Amino acid sequence: MARVAIVTGGTRGIGEAISLALKDLGVTVAANYAGNVEKAQAFTERTGIQAYQWDVGDFDACAQGVARVAAELGPIDIVVNNAGVTRDGTILKMDREMWEDVIRINLGGCFNMAHAAFPGMRDRKWGRIVNIGSINGQAGQYGQVNYAAAKSGIHGFTKALAQEGARFGVTVNAIAPGYIDTDMVAAVPADVLDKIVARIPVGRLGQASEIARGVAFLCSEEAGFVTGSTLSINGGQHMY
Ligand code: NDP
Repeated sequence: MARVAIVTGGTRGIGEAISLALKDLGVTVAANYAGNVEKAQAFTERTGIQAYQWDVGDFDACAQGVARVAAELGPIDIVVNNAGVTRDGTILKMDREMWEDVIRINLGGCFNMAHAAFPGMRDRKWGRIVNIGSINGQAGQYGQVNYAAAKSGIHGFTKALAQEGARFGVTVNAIAPGYIDTDMVAAVPADVLDKIVARIPVGRLGQASEIARGVAFLCSEEAGFVTGSTLSINGGQHMY
C-alpha cells in the first residue's frame, strides 16, 4: 500500500536524505521547511518531492500543514520529526529567546506534529512516528543547555507516546545521530570540529544517508514490533 509521509525540515541536510530514502521505499513524501524557499525549490527540482512551508514550532501552523498535505496527498501515515535548530552559548550568554526558540522548535515541533497526525494514524490502525534526537541529548554538550534539554526531552516524549500508540499499530521511535556532515555541523568552528572528530571511534563524521537508512527501517512495514526505542547512529562516540 502506498503510504504518505511528512518529513519536517525535509528539504536539506539529514531531512533531505530521509525524504529520499522514504521515496525509495515507495512512500509519497511531503517535505516541510521553515522558510529557505530557494533551497526548497532546488530540492523539489532535484528530487521531484513537493515542499511545504510552515514553522513546526507553531501549533496551529502544524495542524493546518498536516490538513493541507492530507488533502493534497492523502492521509498521513508517517511523520518524521527532523526539523531542528541550534542557538548555542554557555548559560551566562544564553538569553531567554535562545532557550525558548530551541525548546519551541525542536521539542515543541514534535508535540505539534504528533498532535495533528496521531489521531488519524490511530483511527486507521497504522502509523510511524520517528523523532530525530541527538547524541547531545543523551550525553549533554558544553554550550548547549537548550539543545541538550530539547533533544533529551524528545527521547522521553518518544517513550511516552510509544505507549499510547502501541495498541493502535502506531510505533514511535527516535534516532540519536552523532555528528553528521551537514550545514548545522559546518557552522561549528574548524578547531572545535577537529576535536570532535578525534573523539569519534570510526574516525569521521557520519553521512546524512546513514541516518536516513535507520529512519527508513523504522518506517517500514517490517518494523511494527519496534517501538519506544532509540537507535544511536554515532560512529561509536557514545555507547549506552
Ligand atoms: P540543517 O540545519 O541542515 O537543516 C535543518 C532543516 O530544518 C531545514 O530544512 C530547515 O528549513 C528546517 N527547519 C528549521 N527550523 C524549522 C522550523 N521552525 N520549522 C520547520 N522547519 C524548520 O539540519 P541537519 O540536517 O543538520 O539536522 C537535522 C536534524 O538532525 C535536527 O533535528 C538536528 O538537531 C539533528 N541532528 C543533527 C546532527 C548533525 O550533526 N547535523 C547531529 C544530531 C542531531 P529551512 O531550509 O527552511 O531553513
